[in-house]
Amino acid sequence: MQILQTPIEYLKGVGPAKADLLKKELRIFTYRDLLNLFPFRYVDRSRFYKINEISSTETEVQIIGKITKLEEVGAARAKRLTAHFVDETGSVELVWFKGLKWLKNSLKLNQPYVLFAKPSMFNNRYNFAHPDLELLEEFKASPLQGLQPVYPSTEKLNGRNINARTLAKLTQTLLPQLKGALPEIYPPEFLKENGLAPREASYFEVHFPKNVERLEKAGYRLKFDEFFMLQLDMIRQKKIHQIKQRGFAFSALGENFNNFYNNELPFELTGAQKKVLKEIRKDIMHGLHMNRLVQGDVGSGKTIVALMCMLMAIDNGFQACLMAPTEILATQHYNGLKELVENLPVEIALLTGSTKAAARRELHAKLEDGSLHILIGTHALIEDKVKYKNLGMAVIDEQHRFGVAQRAQLWKKNTLPPHILIMTATPIPRTLAMSVYGNLDISVIDELPPGRKPITTVHRYDSNRLKVFGFMKDEIAIGRQVYVVYPLIEESKQMDYKDLQDGYESIVRAFPKSDYQVSIVHGKMKATDKEWEMQRFAKGETQIMVATTVIEVGVNVPNASVMVIESAERFGLSQLHQLRGRVGRGAEQSFCILMTSHKLSSDAKTRIKTMVRTNDGFEISEVDMKLRGPGDLMGTRQSGILNLKIADLMKDGAILEQARNAAINLLEKDPQLQQPEHYGILQHFNSQVKRKMQWGRIS
Ligand code: ADP
Ligand code: MG
Repeated sequence: MQILQTPIEYLKGVGPAKADLLKKELRIFTYRDLLNLFPFRYVDRSRFYKINEISSTETEVQIIGKITKLEEVGAARAKRLTAHFVDETGSVELVWFKGLKWLKNSLKLNQPYVLFAKPSMFNNRYNFAHPDLELLEEFKASPLQGLQPVYPSTEKLNGRNINARTLAKLTQTLLPQLKGALPEIYPPEFLKENGLAPREASYFEVHFPKNVERLEKAGYRLKFDEFFMLQLDMIRQKKIHQIKQRGFAFSALGENFNNFYNNELPFELTGAQKKVLKEIRKDIMHGLHMNRLVQGDVGSGKTIVALMCMLMAIDNGFQACLMAPTEILATQHYNGLKELVENLPVEIALLTGSTKAAARRELHAKLEDGSLHILIGTHALIEDKVKYKNLGMAVIDEQHRFGVAQRAQLWKKNTLPPHILIMTATPIPRTLAMSVYGNLDISVIDELPPGRKPITTVHRYDSNRLKVFGFMKDEIAIGRQVYVVYPLIEESKQMDYKDLQDGYESIVRAFPKSDYQVSIVHGKMKATDKEWEMQRFAKGETQIMVATTVIEVGVNVPNASVMVIESAERFGLSQLHQLRGRVGRGAEQSFCILMTSHKLSSDAKTRIKTMVRTNDGFEISEVDMKLRGPGDLMGTRQSGILNLKIADLMKDGAILEQARNAAINLLEKDPQLQQPEHYGILQHFNSQVKRKMQWGRIS
């Protein structure tokens, strides 16, 4: 077993520099990580083309030829390296945008190379960007042939000439060393029942398949393993939860709830809101612990549902808290909810990182003596020093921003864990929900409040900015407000702040102070300044809000009817959808304008098109999942929640179902996995769970 833990630099062919890149770019630290870097497709490298045989840009071609000329062209950002690549039938151009220095020094002129890449058409000629190149001599010496694995790589790796083929060679070196290190984990009957190929052979076949049929069997086996372990985990959690986890019984629907429902509710609840409230009530009436996820598209009215749950807690003698991911959002919730419970005998307070010490002391005291009923805040409200007299209900808004550890802290706030209601506006397709949240119960608010006009979404190029400004002016003239949002990501922070600043200045020029007030909010500002600017905008004192994505979640300004998203190609789909959800909250027709440059990748085009086509969060999340893979969608790749290496939730739903059934059957027969023939499963399961840091119990 130990061999799988071996650091990757011990592998022949991996020097310190390469190891460093593998770690940074692909998170490959050990032999195990490399073993679990699976090909995402396979190519046939038995066929060679001549240059004059290239006839389309549809598929990769493999050519033997020489580089006759190598030169750097262009300046600064547009700098690139080009090469003439020739065989006896013609020539093509090769081009690189990254890693120029390294390439220039290492590519050899007039030596036979094997080129493998997908051609593109440029100026009516075939052209290859960042092709796989290998000296013919080395190509011939390598045992790689026939069906070849293609591993996921990155631009940066390609720039250093660590391409799919380099990775294939490393795997080829690794595999023979792992003979005997991948023992079978299932008993023979189990293998037979589920039609599974042996484990070790499956690993070998998946990396270097002998033929398509064996590849399929091997892939099936490894995907099954992944789903099976995931489901074992889920089902066990859920069982433990159901059997052992007592919770507070909220047996009464009391005065506050009824009073609010009959006299204070500013509108009729939608059918979906009522349905979800019923589901929640059923959970908490009888003394079992609730752990429920409420999914509802942006604007579906989750806040009021949360409030009514908190009132249920108060009516039964408990306190409640609502946790939001940002100060802005917590403050908004506080202001909104305070108004709603104005006429009820309910004490409500706000606690964030910027609450002053004196106010904080008072608040702590009231929490401990029970005179404070509802506490709204950021994660400040789950810190250890915040003690509740009797916390019975915790609502977590937009949970994807919360870490697992933070949720764990919540559990410790009372003698029994408080009921937990997680609300998310990132809709999750059913298969994903089933496997990620197999241990949570799920409710869906699948209906928007009546009278909402669908938001009109359009795509505009940067060159049309003046027209867009004109449109903004028209909307402001009829009394509306406008958001202009800029991307801000960690890797390109400096540039992004500059873009934001430039953008702000150009808006101030186009919307002069004499006629317009412009707010700006970004992450570098102090919380109090952000809040002040947000409030000015919310009160209608400013007409334009220029911001980074700090306004992404939850902010509610019903009079804002235009959302302009700058560099929209740089946002992910779910982010775009969240941002768009900031408008369309009032009765007026709202608009979302996606600004992009002319240079769009095909994924970016799909994202923009999807946004223009539909307002349906579920449809958007399906597309998102296809583009990005489910791990990213959930924002859980880093937190390790759904760390699938080979299985694909979109494509492998049938395998998931089979694995889930097999897991259910197994746990019915042997709930503790104590029978000797299940030792292999138990051991594998335990080592996997250890690696995943026990996330499941508390998510
Ligand atoms: P989200 O689900 O995105 O958190 P909110 O709870 O902020 O949505 O609700 C969005 C807006 O819709 C709020 O202004 C809220 O007052 C309003 N709203 C919620 N439920 C209803 C309803 N049943 N009828 C009319 N308006 C509603
Ligand atoms: Mg909300």
